[in-house]
Amino acid sequence: MTQTPKPKLKKPASPQPSSRDNLVANNYSKPYQFVSFPRERPNLGKPAGHDKFDKNRLHGTLFLRLHVQTPLHVSTGIVAPGSDVESRVALIKTMTQGTEKQLLIQGSSLKGCIRSVYEAITRSCLCKTKADIQRIPDGYKECKINIKRNRIFVCDACRIFGALDWQGLIEFNDAKCESIGFNTGFMPSLHRPHPEVRNIYLNSEGEVKGRKFYYHTISAIDKGQNQGIAVQQATKAYTFTTQLQFKNLKPEELGTLLVVLGQDSKYPIALKIGGGKPIGMGTMTVEITQAKVLQNIQDWKQRYCKYTPKNDNLLAAETLKLFIQTQIQTAHSSQLIQSEQLQQLTQILRYPTDREPPEGKY
Ligand SMILES: [Zn+2]
Repeated sequence: MTQTPKPKLKKPASPQPSSRDNLVANNYSKPYQFVSFPRERPNLGKPAGHDKFDKNRLHGTLFLRLHVQTPLHVSTGIVAPGSDVESRVALIKTMTQGTEKQLLIQGSSLKGCIRSVYEAITRSCLCKTKADIQRIPDGYKECKINIKRNRIFVCDACRIFGALDWQGLIEFNDAKCESIGFNTGFMPSLHRPHPEVRNIYLNSEGEVKGRKFYYHTISAIDKGQNQGIAVQQATKAYTFTTQLQFKNLKPEELGTLLVVLGQDSKYPIALKIGGGKPIGMGTMTVEITQAKVLQNIQDWKQRYCKYTPKNDNLLAAETLKLFIQTQIQTAHSSQLIQSEQLQQLTQILRYPTDREPPEGKY
């Protein structure tokens, strides 16, 4: 049987467009955009640490419900026979599942996604990047701690999320799907990123342009059983619940985290998680259902002095709304949030959106 293989790259129609035209066309069709670095370098400071609960800081738990908006696949890296997971396809890329076979999103995946947004809107280092170290702008290299020499100064994000050899102030539990089972999706094969393509990733000085984020789209591309790679996924209307524990956070740090979680109506952003980001997958919105906040030391005394402590610290409905808005306002009036970067990021991560998933090459 002879079949002409489909050409992978669309050749531009002749005459050859100028390189500038190319760039414009690329920018238009790219499923991502960059958030520039703030004008000032990362803001280094000593993290709060874990040795005590600072009475001027906030400690507690946020209870989150994550609403899947476009198909979500967080890969385990394992391809299994479909029969292993009760799927009718021959082979399937798996997601983590809990004991009752509900899908799970690992806390570390959530943390990574939330961290990258927090980094982008604060004065933070460029962490876990694949970029050539020579191309990273001055002062933006990943924070390093030297405990022996007592050099413990890290950027805004590293103080909260942790750095190498330094535990952060927030922890994420695995997010559990509220329903049992999964959906089978069929992803197209995606092209790898091309960091060597200079004009896409680097500015005119040859330095990394900024931080890359993928746009949300109204839906994701699914190639169907004959052309796609089968993946275990959660689709629209699936919900996950999880908890985020925090301690020793300044109000503006918690406020910034709440902005990242899309709780500021002026900056309606959604998370983008897992595989298939270029083809519209992985959009999730966050609902904070409750919060437990220990705001002063009296709360702690009460907590440890009684067998049945009262749950006075539980915030829900109106008290929760007020608490969230207060922290967000504090964040905006502090130096922590970089408003220019937040504006740029909102352009990319705004949700809902009317953007269509990309056509052609992914
Ligand atoms: Zn850092």
